Amino acid sequence: MVRVNCHVHSNESDGSLSPRELLERAVEEGLGCVCFTDHFRMPKEIRDYGEARKHGDDYYDELEKLRVEFAGKVDVLIGVELDWVDGYEDWFLSEMGDRDYDFILGAVHWLKNLDGDFSRPHFPTGGIEEFGGERIFIENYFGEIRKMIEFGRIDCVAHLDAFRKRLEDNGVLCEDWYKDLVVDLLRLMKEREVVLEVNCAGWEVLDECFPQRWIVEEAVRLGVGLTIGNDFHKLKFGRLDEGIDRAVEMLREVGAQEILVFRGRIGERMKV
Ligand SMILES: [Zn+2]
Ligand SMILES: [Zn+2]
Repeated sequence: MVRVNCHVHSNESDGSLSPRELLERAVEEGLGCVCFTDHFRMPKEIRDYGEARKHGDDYYDELEKLRVEFAGKVDVLIGVELDWVDGYEDWFLSEMGDRDYDFILGAVHWLKNLDGDFSRPHFPTGGIEEFGGERIFIENYFGEIRKMIEFGRIDCVAHLDAFRKRLEDNGVLCEDWYKDLVVDLLRLMKEREVVLEVNCAGWEVLDECFPQRWIVEEAVRLGVGLTIGNDFHKLKFGRLDEGIDRAVEMLREVGAQEILVFRGRIGERMKV
């Protein structure tokens, strides 16, 4: 059984456990591979995290040491979650420097509302009118994902449709224009060799993972690569392996043969 979690947050970003505590849990829970994907810092004018999310050499040195210490027990991979902001491409490139990541996960967590301010599309704060209504909101959100893919520095799109948390009803997800937008994005991902994450956190808050099962099925049909992660932050939301086996089971059901685990930015195939 494939037991990997390629989306994990430690207390270097907004998780509650230290990298060591996370790896000790991974051993306890029988996970074979963990990829750290702490949020990278943001441009200060958008979100100033102060001392948090430093992503300095000390953090990466510790992960390297833990990688050696846990060898043979858990495969430790060093990734990052890049919180995409349009117009800050050069900022990201210079801040991330030439660090050798195993995996760069890209996510849209900030989206401009009608006032031109950045707001968080995944967190309900009283409707989506501030973004101009459902359709404009979704078109803009997917537009940002498209730009992030075209940026050319990410390996994988995280929680593609996590904005579903914000919708009051799911009717819009059945409309043709919505399905066309999703399929267009998957085609772009295939063309750019960017893969899709099956993010188990969807099952914690909604009835489907992120993205919905039909999207995963379509990705398999189009030959888009897949990774698995559960966006672990805190134990109160579930175990470190929460949803991982369920994701593998679903992938088998939709006809996937393999998932990818990134090492040195190269996707290694693992049979499911
Ligand atoms: Zn995220
Ligand atoms: Zn995350």
